[in-house]
Amino acid sequence: MNDANARALFDRARRAIPGGVNSPVRAFGSVGGTPPFLARGAGATVHDEDGNAYLDLVGSWGPLLLGHAHPAVVEAVARAAADGTSFGAPTRLEVEAAETVVDRVPGVERVRFVNSGTEATMSALRLARGITGRDRIVKFAGNYHGHADGLLVAAGSGALTTGVPSSEGVPAQVADLTEVVRYGDVDGLSALFRARGSEIAAVILEPVAGNMGVVPPSAEFLRAVRELTRDHGALMIVDEVMTGFRVARGGAIERYALDADLVCWGKIIGGGLPVGAFGGSAERMERLSPTGGVYQGGTLSGNPLAMAAGLATFRAIDEAGDVYERLEVLGARLQAGLERGASEAGVPLTVQRVGSMITPFFRAAPVLDDVDAQEVDHGAFRAWFHGLLRRGVYWPASPFESAFLSYAHDEALVDRVVDAAADAFRDAAAA
Ligand SMILES: *Cc1c(COP(=O)(O)O)cnc(C)c1O
Repeated sequence: MNDANARALFDRARRAIPGGVNSPVRAFGSVGGTPPFLARGAGATVHDEDGNAYLDLVGSWGPLLLGHAHPAVVEAVARAAADGTSFGAPTRLEVEAAETVVDRVPGVERVRFVNSGTEATMSALRLARGITGRDRIVKFAGNYHGHADGLLVAAGSGALTTGVPSSEGVPAQVADLTEVVRYGDVDGLSALFRARGSEIAAVILEPVAGNMGVVPPSAEFLRAVRELTRDHGALMIVDEVMTGFRVARGGAIERYALDADLVCWGKIIGGGLPVGAFGGSAERMERLSPTGGVYQGGTLSGNPLAMAAGLATFRAIDEAGDVYERLEVLGARLQAGLERGASEAGVPLTVQRVGSMITPFFRAAPVLDDVDAQEVDHGAFRAWFHGLLRRGVYWPASPFESAFLSYAHDEALVDRVVDAAADAFRDAAAA
């Protein structure tokens, strides 16, 4: 596989951009080697600067529910761009986008748009603190909520991948306000609320963990978060940046019938453009400026191109009518194929999946939390990953990430991934 252009570009990148990348996992730190430089994508396929084509299971890390360059999304963005790229003034598109979210997600009456998932969770926390008048927050180890100071404590995603549990540069006083509990640990959460429940503004969680690899929640855990927060006057913030509009039409809120106080979105809501959002009841959300005293704003927030891309995505989902059923079928097929391939090659593997989010953990036992997730066979994953890449399958470059299927995938493409994976499992067994 030719990678001369990628090598040259990565050299240039490292002279102009820290580590050569604008987000850490892209540098292939967990797997080694030179990352392909992607030039274009269409449907389920991406093409790199060296002329290689790959079947894509990364999907830009979640946003591309419809695949790359979906014609309706491309057309909507082009049309919006021709009318002007930004106004910093109210526009019809942002009203339609907000109405669409309100319409889809039970319990959400107001939505504020921002520019990334990081901004969404950061702003939702400020709002929760403003509403409750409390400072302390609770998050779960291995859950990732973006890179705001208070949330980069025992974080997943790039922070987990590089083995750095948090980050330099986060003030100790800020980190001190973040309590960390193991994902799924009902007893730990109960004990924490008994000890300092009156100081806690909010509990934030990934309703399906995706940033330590896919870890489905237990019903008991979801119920405990709801009851403990309610009993102690704290808010439940559901971070749907990854799961929103992916695990069901209304996200995890719909799939698990969650009663959240605040919800955060990103990724799919922007149709591949930089967008985040957060929402909740009218009463809570009107505490934001300009009606309320909790400040939050953004020059490019509600950007017309981004709103157009998100709206076109929602419209295409509704027109297709069978997106979530298809993704479930394809996900099950991929899971069964990976399990078969690993078993035939004698590689211990546990595949965890919710709909179109899927992680093959290279260990025999299930992964329930961040400690389990760390105990995978890194060498086997690395060999498998490069085996896939050589065979034209672009899989997330970390053992702790979710891969994503899109509506542009079909049975034949999934079978190609499964075939390549079977060969790659033999590479992993030999490594
Ligand atoms: C990706 C992600 C974020 C951060 O979103 P960015 O747009 O990368 O800032 C926050 N929460 C979850 C659950 C995510 O998956």
